[in-house]
This record gives sequence, C-alpha cells and structure tokens, in this order.
Amino acid sequence: MRLVVVGPAGRMGCMLTRAIPDTLGVRLVAAVEREGSPAIGADSGAAFGQAPNGVPVTSDIESALSQADAVIDFSAPAATVAVAKACAKKRVAHVIGTTGLAPEELATIAEAARETVVVRSGNMSLGVNLLAVLVEKAAKALGPGWDAEIVEMHHKMKVDAPSGTALLLGEAVAKGRGIDLAEHSARGRDGLTGPRKAGDIGFAALRGGSVVGEHTVIFAGMGERIELSHRAEDRGIFARGAIAAALWTREKAPGLYSMADVLGLSG
Ligand code: NAP
Repeated sequence: MRLVVVGPAGRMGCMLTRAIPDTLGVRLVAAVEREGSPAIGADSGAAFGQAPNGVPVTSDIESALSQADAVIDFSAPAATVAVAKACAKKRVAHVIGTTGLAPEELATIAEAARETVVVRSGNMSLGVNLLAVLVEKAAKALGPGWDAEIVEMHHKMKVDAPSGTALLLGEAVAKGRGIDLAEHSARGRDGLTGPRKAGDIGFAALRGGSVVGEHTVIFAGMGERIELSHRAEDRGIFARGAIAAALWTREKAPGLYSMADVLGLSG
C-alpha cells in the first residue's frame, strides 16, 4: 500500500516515516509539509534526523495523492481539513490522528467521508481503545451516581486541551450512561465553582516535560473509587496503530470509521 505522510517534520510524522519502512505491505510515496517550509525538496528521512528514504518533502498535496492509496495525517486542524477535501476529491483513504478539531472542521471531515474512507481517532493505540470499551462498560454498570472524572497529562508542547484521548474517554462514559457528552462536560474548574453537578463528566489537563500521554478515568462513589488508567511510553504505539488503520481501509466502503472499528472492538 502506497502511503503519504502529512507533517513529516513533526513528532508523530517522524515516528511514521521511521515505522513505515519496518512494516510489511506499506511504502512511503510522499511526505507533505506546508508551503514555504524550509524542508521542501529535502529527503524526508534525512531532513529530520533519520536514515535517508529517497522521498523528498513536497507541499503539493494534489500530486502526492495521485500516486497514493492512503494518507496518514498527524498535523494541525486547518491542514487536516484541507487534506480531507483533497482526499475526498481523489477518493484516497484518510487516516486522521490530528486532535483539537472544531465542530465545523469535524463536519467538513464527515462530509469528506461520504466520498472516501476516513478513520479518525484521538488515540490510535490498541490499549486506549480497549480502555474506552472498559470505561463504557464501567459507566453503564455504575450509573451516574458514581462521579466520573478524567485526568490527563501530556508534554509541555501540546497545544490543545483536553486531549483528544480524554475526550474519547469522556464519550465512552457518556455512551455508557446514554447521555450527550456536550451537555454534561465540566472542564477546567477554577475559583468558587460550587458543588459538583450531579451527572457531570469532569476533565482536568496537566502539562509538563516530555510526558507522551497518561490518562486516568476515575469513578468516585461514596466510600470507594475505581481508577482505570493507560500510560503511553513512546509514540510508536500511535504510529503503528495509524499504519494498521491505513492497511485496514483497503476495500472498505466510504464512511467515517473509528479505531474501535479497525481493532474490531466496536459493537
Ligand atoms: P507537531 O510535532 O507539532 O507536528 C505537526 C506537524 O504538522 C509539523 O511538522 C507541522 O509543520 C505540520 N503541519 C502543520 N500544518 C501543516 C500543513 N498545512 N501541511 C503540512 N504539514 C503541516 O505535533 P505532533 O506531536 O506530531 O502532533 C500532531 C497532531 O497529532 C496533534 O494534533 C496531536 O495532538 C495529535 N496526536 C494524535 C495522536 C493520536 O493517537 N491520535 C497521538 C499523538 C499526537 P509546522 O511546524 O511547519 O507547522
């Protein structure tokens, strides 16, 4: 399968260009950075501290797509929306790891998924997607009488909060309770907040150092507490998951899919 990586200069982009040559059945055919990037024309391995791979960095998404079966995209919301439209036009599968997408950007991606296969997940790891299944089950069994709080910690360069994974876990709690997360989400408490609102799903985001990603879902009952946690030790788990998702898109009908679909954990 011929793959395009968007954002090869980034932390995740580098993980991908390193993991692709080690994975059977895939090869890198293009690496796309923004227009004006000083890396344009340079080798997309060597330019970012890796072994040369013979694939030059380009900003021309259209020509990159014309030779590709799937795009793996861990970049930024505006770039991901532009790539989604281009993938829809060329019917190339789009695997989206980018987080922090606004509702209107998500709507554009859903529109693109009418034309091509799109896999989007705030976390591409097997462990987190399994955690989400366990969280949904726990939320269903315990009911809203147990207060749900989601605590996450990431490296100090992360620009969005709560993390895409925290939101994915929040959705799992909401699904288990049969409610809408948007109507029950409590974010960033500060000052005189008053007592906790019954049924809220709380989020707390910590930032610092080089932490790859840690998430804990706490169910706090009267006199007892359950905590379900995941700790990512290196970004390779997301790269391997994204490549598995790209391979999975082969022969699939257009639509918007999740990592739970890819891993056979949905339903
Ligand atoms: P990063 O190091 O900042 O990398 C982002 C890369 O995308 C940069 O090279 C950036 O280039 C590039 N980019 C931005 N706009 C672009 C455009 N228009 N065209 C092409 N490339 C463009 O960030 P990261 O840590 O790799 O994370 C990237 C995204 O993935 C974030 O949203 C993060 O939260 C998410 N993420 C998701 C998962 C998951 O499992 N779903 C895991 C880890 C991270 P410039 O520097 O020139 O802007």
